[in-house]
Amino acid sequence: MNDDGTMARVPDLERFCARHGLLMCTVADIIRYRIQEEKLVERVVSGVALPTELGTFDLFVYRSLVDPHPHLVLTTGGVGREEDGRVVEEPEPVLVRMHSECLTGDVFGSLLCDCGGQLSMSMAMVAQTGKGAIVYMRQEGRGIGLVNKLRAYHLQQNEGLDTVEANLRLGFEPDLRDYGIGAQIIRDLGVRKVRLLTTTRARSWPWPVMAWRSSSACPSRSPPPPTTSGTS
Ligand SMILES: [Zn+2]
Repeated sequence: MNDDGTMARVPDLERFCARHGLLMCTVADIIRYRIQEEKLVERVVSGVALPTELGTFDLFVYRSLVDPHPHLVLTTGGVGREEDGRVVEEPEPVLVRMHSECLTGDVFGSLLCDCGGQLSMSMAMVAQTGKGAIVYMRQEGRGIGLVNKLRAYHLQQNEGLDTVEANLRLGFEPDLRDYGIGAQIIRDLGVRKVRLLTTTRARSWPWPVMAWRSSSACPSRSPPPPTTSGTS
């Protein structure tokens, strides 16, 4: 706390530390450290054969210490399989799609966003390629949850706000998605190099933090959404 009773912010604390010869770390540093150093995910279901219209996948379920809902993974080509109680490491780059849950798009085929199309396109590509993984992160509506995502839709449709403005109006950051846990899941699957299936190249994903030996992006070829105002 500052002398005048206000909350000391980082610049205040940096001055305080410099004056007293103290070291400082931020909450963000602690989060980064824990994602990097501690295993926060646990595999709770392994390799269920899942035949779908787009191909047959192995389904894995992961629980995370920091998320309320379990995350799902669909793989092909034996990615994530265990032999003698150990996960087999993949020496070659593996095609990986990180998909954030979007109930309206994924299940109902909503055209307010292109999530449904991207998911099926990714499943088709991972099935076709013969070795890959789709990590289905349960972070609905850019991390704000289903109800708030639908509230944001309402604001967009009735007040003409865009996704970012609607999320800000609801009191959220524009994008709360966090892929650190997803990166831990990929590591647990034995994947050491990724070919990322993505529509956006520049994301603040923690690949360097996770000590990936290499990674590259390859665009997913989903058609553009009919409207651009939807939350994902
Ligand atoms: Zn969506």
